[in-house]
Amino acid sequence: MRETADGASGKRQMIEHHLDDDMLVHYSAGTLAEGWSVAVATHLALCPACRSNLAMLESVGGYFLQREQGDNGDVSEGWNNLKARIEAGEIENVLPMKRHSADPTFPEPLRSYIHGAGGLKWRRLGRGAAHMIIPTDDSTTTVRLLKIPAGQPVPAHSHDGSELTLVLDGSFSDEVSTFRRGDVEMADGDLTHQPKANPDRDCICLAVTDAPLRFRSRFMRWLQPLLGI
Ligand SMILES: [Zn+2]
Repeated sequence: MRETADGASGKRQMIEHHLDDDMLVHYSAGTLAEGWSVAVATHLALCPACRSNLAMLESVGGYFLQREQGDNGDVSEGWNNLKARIEAGEIENVLPMKRHSADPTFPEPLRSYIHGAGGLKWRRLGRGAAHMIIPTDDSTTTVRLLKIPAGQPVPAHSHDGSELTLVLDGSFSDEVSTFRRGDVEMADGDLTHQPKANPDRDCICLAVTDAPLRFRSRFMRWLQPLLGI
Protein backbone atom coordinates (compact mmCIF):
# COMPACT_ATOMS: atom_id res chain seq x y z
CA MET A 1 0.00 0.00 0.00
CA ARG A 2 1.29 3.47 -0.87
CA GLU A 3 0.62 6.47 1.31
CA THR A 4 1.33 10.11 0.77
CA ALA A 5 2.82 12.78 2.98
CA ASP A 6 3.19 16.48 2.35
CA GLY A 7 6.81 17.26 1.63
CA ALA A 8 8.50 20.31 3.07
CA SER A 9 8.33 21.73 -0.45
CA GLY A 10 4.54 21.38 -0.34
CA LYS A 11 4.63 18.68 -3.02
CA ARG A 12 2.80 15.41 -2.40
CA GLN A 13 5.31 12.63 -2.01
CA MET A 14 5.04 8.89 -1.67
CA ILE A 15 6.33 7.05 1.38
CA GLU A 16 7.58 3.76 0.00
CA HIS A 17 9.93 2.50 2.71
CA HIS A 18 8.29 1.81 6.05
CA LEU A 19 9.21 0.68 9.55
CA ASP A 20 9.51 -3.06 9.85
CA ASP A 21 6.85 -4.82 11.91
CA ASP A 22 9.35 -6.01 14.47
CA MET A 23 10.35 -2.45 15.34
CA LEU A 24 6.71 -1.37 15.56
CA VAL A 25 5.91 -4.29 17.88
CA HIS A 26 8.74 -3.34 20.22
CA TYR A 27 7.77 0.34 20.06
CA SER A 28 4.19 -0.55 20.92
CA ALA A 29 5.31 -2.79 23.79
CA GLY A 30 7.56 -0.03 25.15
CA THR A 31 10.65 -2.21 24.80
CA LEU A 32 12.40 -0.14 22.14
CA ALA A 33 15.36 1.99 23.30
CA GLU A 34 14.82 5.75 23.24
CA GLY A 35 17.11 6.45 20.28
CA TRP A 36 15.18 4.14 17.94
CA SER A 37 11.89 5.33 19.42
CA VAL A 38 12.60 8.95 18.43
CA ALA A 39 12.96 7.84 14.80
CA VAL A 40 9.95 5.51 14.96
CA ALA A 41 7.71 8.21 16.43
CA THR A 42 8.94 10.76 13.87
CA HIS A 43 8.21 8.36 11.01
CA LEU A 44 4.77 7.71 12.51
CA ALA A 45 4.06 11.46 12.45
CA LEU A 46 4.62 11.37 8.68
CA CYS A 47 3.15 7.98 7.78
CA PRO A 48 -0.56 7.11 7.93
CA ALA A 49 0.12 3.47 6.95
CA CYS A 50 2.41 2.79 9.92
CA ARG A 51 0.08 4.75 12.21
CA SER A 52 -2.79 2.46 11.36
CA ASN A 53 -0.57 -0.61 11.85
CA LEU A 54 0.34 0.73 15.27
CA ALA A 55 -3.30 1.49 16.07
CA MET A 56 -4.15 -2.14 15.31
CA LEU A 57 -1.35 -3.31 17.56
CA GLU A 58 -2.36 -1.07 20.42
CA SER A 59 -6.07 -1.75 20.22
CA VAL A 60 -5.66 -5.50 20.49
CA GLY A 61 -3.13 -5.22 23.28
CA GLY A 62 -0.10 -7.09 24.45
CA TYR A 63 -2.05 -9.91 26.06
CA PHE A 64 -3.55 -10.97 22.78
CA LEU A 65 -0.24 -10.62 21.01
CA GLN A 66 1.33 -12.98 23.47
CA ARG A 67 -1.35 -15.58 22.86
CA GLU A 68 -0.73 -15.21 19.14
CA GLN A 69 3.02 -15.61 19.50
CA GLY A 70 4.48 -18.06 17.01
CA ASP A 71 5.64 -21.51 18.16
CA ASN A 72 9.20 -20.27 18.22
CA GLY A 73 8.22 -17.34 20.45
CA ASP A 74 8.84 -14.86 17.65
CA VAL A 75 6.80 -11.73 18.33
CA SER A 76 6.84 -10.64 14.71
CA GLU A 77 5.33 -13.98 13.66
CA GLY A 78 2.62 -13.35 16.22
CA TRP A 79 2.00 -9.97 14.68
CA ASN A 80 1.70 -11.49 11.21
CA ASN A 81 -0.88 -13.99 12.49
CA LEU A 82 -2.71 -11.16 14.12
CA LYS A 83 -2.77 -9.00 11.01
CA ALA A 84 -4.10 -11.93 8.98
CA ARG A 85 -6.94 -12.38 11.48
CA ILE A 86 -7.80 -8.68 11.51
CA GLU A 87 -7.81 -8.60 7.72
CA ALA A 88 -10.03 -11.70 7.63
CA GLY A 89 -12.54 -9.82 9.80
CA GLU A 90 -12.10 -12.19 12.76
CA ILE A 91 -11.13 -9.32 15.05
CA GLU A 92 -13.11 -6.09 15.18
CA ASN A 93 -12.89 -2.87 17.17
CA VAL A 94 -9.61 -1.86 15.61
CA LEU A 95 -9.41 1.87 16.21
CA PRO A 96 -8.57 4.09 13.27
CA MET A 97 -5.93 6.71 14.01
CA LYS A 98 -6.36 10.30 12.86
CA ARG A 99 -3.97 11.75 10.38
CA HIS A 100 -1.93 14.62 11.82
CA SER A 101 -2.66 17.84 9.98
CA ALA A 102 0.55 19.81 10.54
CA ASP A 103 3.49 18.43 8.63
CA PRO A 104 6.61 20.50 9.30
CA THR A 105 10.13 19.43 8.32
CA PHE A 106 10.83 18.37 11.91
CA PRO A 107 7.63 16.80 13.28
CA GLU A 108 7.16 15.94 16.93
CA PRO A 109 8.68 14.40 18.93
CA LEU A 110 11.82 15.29 17.00
CA ARG A 111 11.11 19.03 17.16
CA SER A 112 11.10 18.96 20.97
CA TYR A 113 14.38 17.04 21.03
CA ILE A 114 15.96 19.65 18.73
CA HIS A 115 14.53 22.42 20.89
CA GLY A 116 15.85 20.68 24.04
CA ALA A 117 19.32 20.60 22.46
CA GLY A 118 19.22 24.39 22.11
CA GLY A 119 17.88 24.49 18.55
CA LEU A 120 19.43 23.53 15.23
CA LYS A 121 23.20 23.77 15.55
CA TRP A 122 24.95 22.15 12.62
CA ARG A 123 28.52 20.94 13.06
CA ARG A 124 30.50 20.80 9.85
CA LEU A 125 31.73 17.45 8.57
CA GLY A 126 33.53 18.80 5.51
CA ARG A 127 32.53 19.17 1.83
CA GLY A 128 29.36 21.00 2.85
CA ALA A 129 28.02 18.12 4.95
CA ALA A 130 27.02 18.75 8.55
CA HIS A 131 25.58 16.90 11.50
CA MET A 132 23.97 17.58 14.82
CA ILE A 133 23.91 15.11 17.71
CA ILE A 134 20.54 14.95 19.42
CA PRO A 135 20.96 14.19 23.11
CA THR A 136 18.84 11.40 24.62
CA ASP A 137 19.04 9.41 27.86
CA ASP A 138 19.77 6.28 25.83
CA SER A 139 23.44 5.30 25.99
CA THR A 140 22.98 2.39 23.55
CA THR A 141 22.33 4.56 20.49
CA THR A 142 23.48 7.78 18.84
CA VAL A 143 20.79 9.98 17.33
CA ARG A 144 21.81 12.68 14.90
CA LEU A 145 20.57 14.90 12.12
CA LEU A 146 22.62 14.71 8.98
CA LYS A 147 22.71 17.27 6.18
CA ILE A 148 24.12 16.18 2.84
CA PRO A 149 24.50 18.90 0.17
CA ALA A 150 22.51 18.41 -3.04
CA GLY A 151 24.25 16.00 -5.40
CA GLN A 152 26.95 15.01 -2.86
CA PRO A 153 27.74 11.49 -1.66
CA VAL A 154 28.30 10.36 1.93
CA PRO A 155 31.57 8.36 2.11
CA ALA A 156 30.99 4.62 1.47
CA HIS A 157 30.53 2.74 4.71
CA SER A 158 29.22 -0.45 6.27
CA HIS A 159 27.96 -1.06 9.78
CA ASP A 160 29.12 -2.90 12.88
CA GLY A 161 25.61 -2.53 14.25
CA SER A 162 22.34 -1.21 12.88
CA GLU A 163 21.61 2.13 11.24
CA LEU A 164 18.16 3.60 10.76
CA THR A 165 17.90 6.57 8.42
CA LEU A 166 14.71 8.60 8.09
CA VAL A 167 14.55 11.25 5.36
CA LEU A 168 13.09 14.58 6.50
CA ASP A 169 13.85 16.81 3.53
CA GLY A 170 15.22 16.26 0.02
CA SER A 171 16.08 12.70 -0.98
CA PHE A 172 19.01 10.32 -1.41
CA SER A 173 19.76 7.25 -3.44
CA ASP A 174 22.05 4.33 -2.68
CA GLU A 175 22.66 0.79 -3.94
CA VAL A 176 19.27 -0.26 -2.48
CA SER A 177 16.76 2.37 -3.64
CA THR A 178 15.78 6.04 -3.61
CA PHE A 179 14.57 7.41 -0.28
CA ARG A 180 12.36 10.49 -0.01
CA ARG A 181 10.77 12.41 2.85
CA GLY A 182 9.25 9.96 5.32
CA ASP A 183 11.10 6.93 3.93
CA VAL A 184 13.07 4.71 6.30
CA GLU A 185 16.17 2.71 5.44
CA MET A 186 17.41 0.04 7.85
CA ALA A 187 21.01 -1.07 7.35
CA ASP A 188 23.13 -3.63 9.17
CA GLY A 189 26.47 -5.41 8.79
CA ASP A 190 25.41 -6.99 5.49
CA LEU A 191 25.07 -3.67 3.69
CA THR A 192 27.88 -1.48 2.39
CA HIS A 193 26.38 1.59 0.80
CA GLN A 194 27.20 5.04 -0.42
CA PRO A 195 24.13 7.25 -0.05
CA LYS A 196 24.16 10.24 -2.41
CA ALA A 197 21.85 13.24 -2.04
CA ASN A 198 19.81 13.81 -5.17
CA PRO A 199 20.67 17.01 -7.06
CA ASP A 200 17.46 19.01 -6.56
CA ARG A 201 18.05 20.06 -2.93
CA ASP A 202 20.05 19.33 0.23
CA CYS A 203 19.03 16.15 2.00
CA ILE A 204 18.32 16.22 5.73
CA CYS A 205 18.00 12.88 7.53
CA LEU A 206 17.54 11.62 11.04
CA ALA A 207 20.04 8.81 11.62
CA VAL A 208 20.12 6.40 14.56
CA THR A 209 23.06 4.04 15.05
CA ASP A 210 24.12 1.64 17.78
CA ALA A 211 27.77 1.36 16.70
CA PRO A 212 30.19 3.62 14.83
CA LEU A 213 30.01 3.43 11.03
CA ARG A 214 32.76 1.46 9.28
CA PHE A 215 34.17 3.65 6.49
CA ARG A 216 35.81 2.08 3.47
CA SER A 217 38.36 4.84 3.00
CA ARG A 218 41.37 4.90 5.30
CA PHE A 219 41.26 8.71 5.28
CA MET A 220 37.70 8.72 6.60
CA ARG A 221 38.62 6.18 9.29
CA TRP A 222 41.44 8.50 10.35
CA LEU A 223 39.08 11.50 10.34
CA GLN A 224 36.29 9.69 12.15
CA PRO A 225 37.28 10.47 15.79
CA LEU A 226 37.83 14.14 14.93
CA LEU A 227 34.41 14.43 13.34
CA GLY A 228 32.64 12.47 16.06
CA ILE A 229 30.92 10.06 13.69
ZN1 LIG B 1 5.39 3.92 7.35
